[in-house]
Amino acid sequence: MLVTELTATERERILAKAALFAPPANVLPDGRRDLVGLSREELADEMAKAGEKPFRAKQLWHWIYHQGVREFSAMSTIARPLQEKLAEKFVISRPEVAADQLSQDETRKFLFRFRDHEAVETVYIPDPVEDRGAVCISSQVGCTLSCRFCHTGTQRLARNLSAAEIVGQFMAARDAYSEWPSPKGETPRLLSTIVLMGMGEPLYNYENVAKAMKIIMDGEGIALSRRRITLSTSGVVPMMDKAGEELGVNLAVSLHAVRDELRDELVPLNRKYPIAELIAACRRYPAASNARRITFEYVMLKDLNDSEADARALVKLIAGLPAKVNLIPFNPWPGSTYETSTPAAIRKFADIVMDAGYAAPVRTPRGQDILAACGQLKSAVQPQA
Ligand code: SAH
Ligand code: SF4
Repeated sequence: MLVTELTATERERILAKAALFAPPANVLPDGRRDLVGLSREELADEMAKAGEKPFRAKQLWHWIYHQGVREFSAMSTIARPLQEKLAEKFVISRPEVAADQLSQDETRKFLFRFRDHEAVETVYIPDPVEDRGAVCISSQVGCTLSCRFCHTGTQRLARNLSAAEIVGQFMAARDAYSEWPSPKGETPRLLSTIVLMGMGEPLYNYENVAKAMKIIMDGEGIALSRRRITLSTSGVVPMMDKAGEELGVNLAVSLHAVRDELRDELVPLNRKYPIAELIAACRRYPAASNARRITFEYVMLKDLNDSEADARALVKLIAGLPAKVNLIPFNPWPGSTYETSTPAAIRKFADIVMDAGYAAPVRTPRGQDILAACGQLKSAVQPQA
């Protein structure tokens, strides 16, 4: 079989597996449908079924995603009788805020609970200097991949999140910072970027993630540019091309090791898609350029992957790629067995990478006091039976 055919078969298999973990229907027990998370076409279909004209879908889209309103009664361009009719059939909902913690460094972690009581964590990380920040969004309840150093990896996959639940995390975070209506154009906003770096592997829930990102990027709603969205993957190679072509968001790759032997152990998915294939997929990634570099995430683990030889092998591996390397000192969590590299080892490693011409920022842990830093997330409140 040709490589491309193999990839296509693999992709089908991944999408079929994702469907096994599909989220429940986005309908209330009383039968009302949630409008959040529908594509524009689906919203238009709902309006048609309700006997309404297509332009109503456009109006609703504006109210839901630009103005951020949650009640039909607040939609002043819609007459009262229609507001009431819509409210009988539909809702505009948000996940429930089951916990809301603020770190000493202003990082804020939410535990959002959904209708079936499953929950995920979402983190807002303000820029330490400027009035902006990143919202770190989850894509799955748990994760199937069990990377050794990751807290989420200890939580088995309960299910995938729906597009509504993915968009809903961002919208609920916006609610918490009163950031509606959506700022227009380059107007500053606090919640200015999205990183798909929370719980779960986004490329194992591709369809819902893609749908959610398309809603968020839509110019008449939240209108966040693809340049402000970064998808992080542990290396689901067959889905990387698809994400690049269809979404064109920035790519972050959780590399963590430069030898297959070690990466097999740290990121077990490497046994399926080894380093050479992963790097080849990065070289093909359509949205990468010098202005939009691929981020390689590299967790610094004491005496495991932090030697000078590792740093030199890393720059060889990514030679010629528009890339930067994010060095993440390992964040411990209850029960973790690894140790963080020494500051001297991290410094040395960063210097070697920088001397080769790559940016190599060392990521300061944020929100560690509330277990909100990279790799510390877990559905803190276990779902009810
Ligand atoms: N599943 C995706 C998205 C999660 S991103 C992925 O793995 O890329 C979370 C990032 O934090 C990943 O780069 C992950 O490898 C890293 N990470 C996980 N556990 C960590 C820990 N304990 N300390 C520091 N970084 C960690
Ligand atoms: Fe899953 Fe990413 Fe954690 Fe690995 S690092 S277990 S892929 S969330």
